[in-house]
Amino acid sequence: MRPALLDPLFAPLSALPGVGPKHARAFDRLLGRAEARALDLLFHLPVGALDRRARPKIRDAEVDAIATLHVRVTEHRPPAPGRKGPLRVLVEDDTGDVELVFFLNNFEWVRQKLPLGAVRWVSGKLELWDGHLQMVHPDRVMDEAELARMASVEPVYGLTEGLYSRTVQKAAQTALARLPALPEWIAEPAPGGLKSLGFEGLSFAAALRRLHAPETPGDVEPTSAAWRRLAYDELLANQLALLMVRARQRVATGRQSPSQGRLAQRVLAALPYALTGAQARAIAEIGADLAAPRRMIRLLQGDVGSGKTIVALIAMCHAVEAGRQAAMMAPTEILARQHIERMTPLAAAAGLRLELFTGRDTQAQRRDKLGRLAAGEIDIAIGTHALFQESAVFRDLGLAVVDEQHRFGVHQRLALSGKGEAADLLVMTATPIPRSLALTYFGDMDVSVLDEKPPGRAPIATRVLPLERLEEVVAAIGRATAGGARAYWVCPLVEDSEEVDLAAAEARAERLREFFGASVGLVHGRMKGPEKDAAMESFQRGDTQVLVATTVIEVGVDVPEATIMVIEHAERFGLAQLHQLRGRVGRGAGRSTCLLLYKGPLGLAGRARLEILRETEDGFRIAEEDLRLRGEGDVLGARQAGAPGFRVARAELHGDLLRAARAAAEAIVGEDERLAQGANRPLRLLLWLFERDAAVKLMEAG
Ligand code: ADP
Ligand code: MG
Repeated sequence: MRPALLDPLFAPLSALPGVGPKHARAFDRLLGRAEARALDLLFHLPVGALDRRARPKIRDAEVDAIATLHVRVTEHRPPAPGRKGPLRVLVEDDTGDVELVFFLNNFEWVRQKLPLGAVRWVSGKLELWDGHLQMVHPDRVMDEAELARMASVEPVYGLTEGLYSRTVQKAAQTALARLPALPEWIAEPAPGGLKSLGFEGLSFAAALRRLHAPETPGDVEPTSAAWRRLAYDELLANQLALLMVRARQRVATGRQSPSQGRLAQRVLAALPYALTGAQARAIAEIGADLAAPRRMIRLLQGDVGSGKTIVALIAMCHAVEAGRQAAMMAPTEILARQHIERMTPLAAAAGLRLELFTGRDTQAQRRDKLGRLAAGEIDIAIGTHALFQESAVFRDLGLAVVDEQHRFGVHQRLALSGKGEAADLLVMTATPIPRSLALTYFGDMDVSVLDEKPPGRAPIATRVLPLERLEEVVAAIGRATAGGARAYWVCPLVEDSEEVDLAAAEARAERLREFFGASVGLVHGRMKGPEKDAAMESFQRGDTQVLVATTVIEVGVDVPEATIMVIEHAERFGLAQLHQLRGRVGRGAGRSTCLLLYKGPLGLAGRARLEILRETEDGFRIAEEDLRLRGEGDVLGARQAGAPGFRVARAELHGDLLRAARAAAEAIVGEDERLAQGANRPLRLLLWLFERDAAVKLMEAG
């Protein structure tokens, strides 16, 4: 149960004085939840601040800046009778004068607030207009008492329809007033202590206060001490949660899968190539995990073409040799099929029994396969998510491999590994993940990295061209295909509509057929499975030489003979996606080319992105740049269920805090997995505040 201490923060905003039902609905929209709570508003941090501290004499006031002036009202100048126009109020001090300008239907309010002869404080932006100073609609008109209550530095918030800045400011102040006194959860002394982090005297509550009631505009910068304190708290909550989940998974279900490596040896002997050093390293790491009594939860990161599949196969050999079964899940049918085709000759060498499971199996086929799976007559099952449906029962699943699934949250990982009793888990991703993100999203896993490509790969020549040069590109492809080359032609994601994308791809295929006739194939996401296979297969065989595709080819497809990749409207794709697409070529020994066709004009950022691709094939560098240019939400794709959301911390700015939080969390969880010790109890509040539910459940269970 949530500690009662936190109740005021979890109360709905509508319970705050001054927030009516209509505003409450607007706040729900602004904060993106069904019934937004005080806490959500407090985590809605300012996007900037207005600085009203300057109180100059008129003569010394800066133009185009905010000034708070002490003035006397000397004249009211209404518009000429019967005419429309603003009311101008002339004010002065002993150094000069300023015109206050009000565009209003009714001037009564102005006359009351600024009667002739009155002395007032006005605050707003000063402008120079037609040679004299003016202030259009001062933000504040105040007497001495009101001035005393004015926020000299005023937070500015992101808004939504139906909410004014003042409404949000007031509600935030009300929510602040409800902040309970919370015990400090950052341990003192260091490591990860308040002092070493630069947060001395800055508690969680003090940080929130500083951000919503800033003293200087710098206080609301994401790099300010207050912001960093909150970011650290959030990252610490995140890391604690991941490590708690991991600790639980490990001890609860560990089982040994000892193997001499005989099966693996036979597969390796049948390989037409030698493993890269990175592959050998990853295989050794995985082998050690499998042989150990604790459960493996490992991420295998490797750029496109780095050879993850064979690493997975060897791992599966170990599981099978230990008398258990292995399963490999691919994101698409095409890939599942490709895996089985590639693995079949190798598996034969080791006497492994493989089977393919897809949503396309007939009832009878599926029944038969499930029967053999349950009887243990299948050693390695390969399939799409159909493989992990309820009905699939293994005799003894020892290892589950998930391919190309970086969109796979902690919760899904928990569910999946529930399939086998104590099944080890290997997740493979081809999208290089910057270190900072890997820790926040996959911090519950160990990581092996394939940072080396198989030898003999020629670099891919990447060119960036405007779409206007399409005809030239077509001609060049004509020459290349006449010489036997094969090309992918990826069509743009025009909008978020599959139909529109499809139409674009179909139209492009039609156009290209005018030039190349029947050697143009088409594959897209709407096709039925067998149609898709047929299209892929004829491209693989070389019957079609140009394959027009929507992004279905993005993940994993391997046709080493393809040497040309054309990407239309490259400006619409994310960097990581472009990198993945490009990785479909350059797999054989032949020289490959990637043509990025863009529709101009390109903005500065757009140009920078395409330039990076031209410069490098290093997936990690591209991922870092992507992170820098776009922020983390986009790098990992739309926010996914199960992935932790970050409200305050930013991967691109707070990497140092992440490392500190990781270290602190490791030390804490290493000793006290359920945060039961007295000194660690305040951390429970932290997990509640940042809603790390999975971890909360674990600690509640203990
Ligand atoms: P990915 O990491 O993208 O899944 P794959 O496992 O599909 O990469 O491997 C890409 C290609 O490289 C395949 O054709 C595979 O046979 C080949 N390959 C893998 N490892 C090596 C190696 N050590 N030497 C040469 N070729 C390799
Ligand atoms: Mg792959």
